[in-house]
Amino acid sequence: MIKENFNAIKQELSDDVKIIVVTKYHSVEETLEAYEAGVREFGENRVEGFLEKRRALPEDANVHFIGTLQSRKVKEIAEHLTYLHSLDRESVAKRIEQHALNEVKCFIQVNISEESSKHGLDVEEVRPFLEAVAQYDKVAVVGLMTMAPLTDDTGVLHDTFGRLKSLRDELQKTHPEITELSMGMSNDYGIAVDHGASYIRIGSKIMGSR
Ligand SMILES: *Cc1c(COP(=O)(O)O)cnc(C)c1O
Repeated sequence: MIKENFNAIKQELSDDVKIIVVTKYHSVEETLEAYEAGVREFGENRVEGFLEKRRALPEDANVHFIGTLQSRKVKEIAEHLTYLHSLDRESVAKRIEQHALNEVKCFIQVNISEESSKHGLDVEEVRPFLEAVAQYDKVAVVGLMTMAPLTDDTGVLHDTFGRLKSLRDELQKTHPEITELSMGMSNDYGIAVDHGASYIRIGSKIMGSR
């Protein structure tokens, strides 16, 4: 089923949209099944799951860290960290600078729809944050990430993803390296892609429910 689910979503989308398959509720065995099905981008939101899947997967698989990361835990995963989708604190950037072996591609998490999450920066905080993390050579901010509220109201979803895209477009004028948008999950990725998502993070719709 994983293979059919993955291929179905892949066929709907342009090759420019990267599908991160979120394996956080699934075993190593199921994760390897996804690898066999052709998945190369994986997402985990906890340190333990990240390390477990990283150890189990072949080298050519990429494991993205998509959840909130406490600064004291950065050291535990730093040598394997390639993509971090949840950067919203300078303390985390500082630890990446100290412990990562290579440059880490980071997305700044933005709290567009203020009720949906305690995490992420408010829109007006993003630009000063960018200036603050510019000093860290191993922190390469490549884009913005958001989580939409849990709702079937497509108006709210269009508004959320449209606002993240506008913010990216605005920042790009002074920071041309900020090109990516990590947005869209199982229930809302179609709308996210309409607004230019370049990375979507899909769990249940590919891996099945927990
Ligand atoms: C779990 C999770 C996802 C995937 O959620 P689904 O609704 O199962 O697709 C995407 N992004 C983040 C940050 C997550 O924690």
